[in-house]
Amino acid sequence: MTDLTSDTLPMAFAQLQLAAPLARAVAEMGYESMTPIQAQAIPVVLQGRDVMGAAQTGTGKTAAFSLPLLQRMLKHENSSTSPARHPVRALVLLPTRELADQVAQQIKLYAKYTNLRSAVVFGGMDMKPQTLELKKGVEVLVATPGRLLDHIEAKNAVLNQVEYVVLDEADRMLDIGFLPDLQRILSYLPKQRITLLFSATFSPEIKRLASSYLQDPVTIEVARSNATASTVEQHFYSVGDDDKRHALHQILKQRDMKQAFVFVNSKLGCARLARSLEREGLKTTALHGDKSQDERLKALDSFKKGEVDLLVCTDVAARGLDIKDVPAVFNFDVPFNAEDYVHRIGRTGRAGASGLAVTFVSKSDARLVGDIEKLIKSKIELEAIEFDEDVPDIRKQGRINDGRRMYAEGAQDDSRQVRHRSGAMHDVAHEGQYARQERPPRRNYSRPAPAPRDPFFDKPYEPAPAPETPPSWEAATAVRHGARSISANIKPKRRVAALFKSA
Ligand code: AMP
Repeated sequence: MTDLTSDTLPMAFAQLQLAAPLARAVAEMGYESMTPIQAQAIPVVLQGRDVMGAAQTGTGKTAAFSLPLLQRMLKHENSSTSPARHPVRALVLLPTRELADQVAQQIKLYAKYTNLRSAVVFGGMDMKPQTLELKKGVEVLVATPGRLLDHIEAKNAVLNQVEYVVLDEADRMLDIGFLPDLQRILSYLPKQRITLLFSATFSPEIKRLASSYLQDPVTIEVARSNATASTVEQHFYSVGDDDKRHALHQILKQRDMKQAFVFVNSKLGCARLARSLEREGLKTTALHGDKSQDERLKALDSFKKGEVDLLVCTDVAARGLDIKDVPAVFNFDVPFNAEDYVHRIGRTGRAGASGLAVTFVSKSDARLVGDIEKLIKSKIELEAIEFDEDVPDIRKQGRINDGRRMYAEGAQDDSRQVRHRSGAMHDVAHEGQYARQERPPRRNYSRPAPAPRDPFFDKPYEPAPAPETPPSWEAATAVRHGARSISANIKPKRRVAALFKSA
């Protein structure tokens, strides 16, 4: 295994001698110098080596793998209308629909001036339009694992000519339980291929995945997975739960912020906070796992277009989303998992831009803040916040509008819901991180007893609500109950370690 651990000096794209159609697309994107992951990965992939890459979100990793793969595939480029002349040659697998969509959009831009076709398939959408596109033939297929297996089984996707595989956000794919699906997909591919694996961390599971499927990979590590971007100004304010919205309004006003992400720990809290902020005059949209795919893409789009000011989201819904120029990220709730802090604030200060990350810390958050301190290896100073006279006291507004304290109640409801199910704070953290993950929609896990519902949720987003990830202690039961609705390829979830042993 070769290690490339030192950051190389930025290199101009011109030095790469990319083929003219790709160089043109890159120039149109406004890229001049390569990011560190690009400077290190592109030449290696061009040489045809496998890569195991650790890169922070927002590092330009998509171009790092797609540009050299497109360059290598150019020899197959043709303008024939025959599907047979456009077999899938590159497969890019990602854990979530939003990530898949985002990566596919970027690849389309890079391939814009070539005859190489690309498509994206993910769950939660009608299979028919995806099928039509696949049947026409595509060279680059971006997919989430579950939906890809459905297309494989339906014989819509033939993978026997795949030369390149990218496992992106591999750590998150394992977290979600996609390992059996990945193994199944990889079993359909030719052995002779180039495999690129990108992961935020190189955990033992990731290393085992790499040793099973990568051949003599070059290791590229541009930044520690727990590093926070140096361009992000980070503040931790000590604020009571009741004062958080007031504090948010004040900081937005003082800093003259146009747009921000606001992170919360639960879907219920997410919807409630978004509604409260909207009522308080901020154009707000919510992004969480209970929303239909269509609604999520619309929410994202309206934020990208600047039609909304605030995107209130949960960690899973927002992970890996690339929205440029987000001036600020607010952690309305301190994340249950310290690594999510790094992911959250990675939304701001991306690709060299400066950003602001504000975390509201209430009394009960001491342990979580300690975890973040340990992870980012830097001392966190809690700051006090003084409220201006001219910023309206949102707490009073909340009572006037609703006759009750909206957010504070929402927060309590959420924690009650979690405690019913787990009974311990450790489990609450687990819920926060995993139970609200994207799940392949085809699986019917048994749902826990419904929590007290806000009338807002009486109108469901989707006729059939997306199944929730069962907590690990329920996984065995969930698997027993889990029935596949489309593909017989999905095997019941087994323990990661056991699978690796048998691999
Ligand atoms: P990624 O990490 O691939 O999601 O990319 C993060 C963002 O950086 C995307 O918006 C890219 O368009 C942008 N980007 C990628 N490479 C470069 C580059 N060399 N120069 C400037 N921006 C870039």
